[in-house]
Amino acid sequence: MIVILEKNITDKKMDEIISLLEENMFSVYKSSSEEEVILHVSGGKPGFNSKNLKHLEGIADVIKTDESFKLSGRKNKNENTLITLPGYEGVEIGGNGIAIIAGPCSVENEKQIFEIAELVAKCGARILRGGAFKPRSSPYSFQGLGADGLKLIRKAADTFKLAVVTEVMDTRHVDLIEEYTDIFQVGSRNMQNYPLLKELGKRKKPVLLKRGFAARIEEWLLSAEYILSGGNEGVILCERGIRTFENFTRNTFDLSAIPVIHQKSHLPIAADPSHATGLRQRVIPMARAAVAAGADAIMVEVHNNPQHALSDGPQALEPDQFCLLLSQLKRIAEVIDRKII
Ligand code: PEP
Ligand code: MN
Repeated sequence: MIVILEKNITDKKMDEIISLLEENMFSVYKSSSEEEVILHVSGGKPGFNSKNLKHLEGIADVIKTDESFKLSGRKNKNENTLITLPGYEGVEIGGNGIAIIAGPCSVENEKQIFEIAELVAKCGARILRGGAFKPRSSPYSFQGLGADGLKLIRKAADTFKLAVVTEVMDTRHVDLIEEYTDIFQVGSRNMQNYPLLKELGKRKKPVLLKRGFAARIEEWLLSAEYILSGGNEGVILCERGIRTFENFTRNTFDLSAIPVIHQKSHLPIAADPSHATGLRQRVIPMARAAVAAGADAIMVEVHNNPQHALSDGPQALEPDQFCLLLSQLKRIAEVIDRKII
C-alpha cells in the first residue's frame, strides 16, 4: 500500500504515523520528492483495517496496491533513476549517456591491474571492474586476492581517475568492500542471497545487480526490491545471460530483457556480453547489439595478457580489441541519439 502524506505535515506527525504503522507490523519505506512524501508500506498485522488510515490527520491518501514491484516498477515512479558517483563528474548511469565498465575478471597483481586501468582510461572508459572476492564454480580455482585485491584496484583506479565496481559475495565483507569500491556488484550466483541484498539496502553506494543465470525477470526485479526497500535507491540491473539448453555459447544473452526492463522499471539496465557469451569473438558483436538494444551501461572483461589470465581468459578482450570496440560503440550510440561516456 502507498500512503501519501499531506504536503505541510510536521516531522512529529510523520513520525507518529510511521510508529503506528510499525507497531502494527508494517514495514515502512519513506521516499520524498519536492512535491510529496510517500510511505511505501508492506506487511501488517492480520486483520488490520487499512481503510481507517485514510482518516488519520496528516494522511492525504492511501492507495492499495497488490503490485509487487512497488519500488522498482514504473507505476509509482515513472522518471528514470539516474545513478551518479560522487567525485566522478559526468559519470552517470541511467541518463542519455551509456557508461562503459571494463577491466579484468579478477585482480591478479599490481602490474596487471595498473596496465589494464591505464588501458581502460586511455580508450575513454571511466569505470574499472575487477573481482577481489571471486565466485568460482570450483573451490580449487583462483578465488581472488581478497582485501589485497581491493587495495590494488582502488590504487590503480585512483591513479587513472576511474571509478570502481567490484563484487561482494558475503555480508561479512560489505564493510570492507564499501571502503574501496564506488559500486557494489552482486553476481549472478548471489542474486537471491537475500541477507546480502538486505545489507546492501542499508548502504548508500549503488549496487550493480546481475541477473541470476536461472532467474526470470520477475524474480530479478523482486531481488532489486530487497535493496530498494532497505532505502538504497541506487540499483543498476545487469543482464549477463541465462542458462538454456544451448551449449555452443556460455549462456544465452537475453537482449530482450533490456527493452522489457525499460518498460517495467525506472532502474538503469547494464549488459555484460562477456559472461553471456564466454568467448571474445562473440563479446564484440553482442556488445554492439546491447548498445543498439538500449543498454544504459556495457560491462566487458578486458585483459593485458588474456592467455595468462587467472580467470575467464577466453572471454577477455585484447587491449586493441577493446579500444576498437569502444570506437564502434560510439558510432552506434550516435544513431540512437545517445553517447558513450
Ligand atoms: C563477474 O562479473 O566476474 C562474474 C563472476 O559475473 P557473473 O556473476 O555474471 O557470473
Ligand atoms: Mn569473469
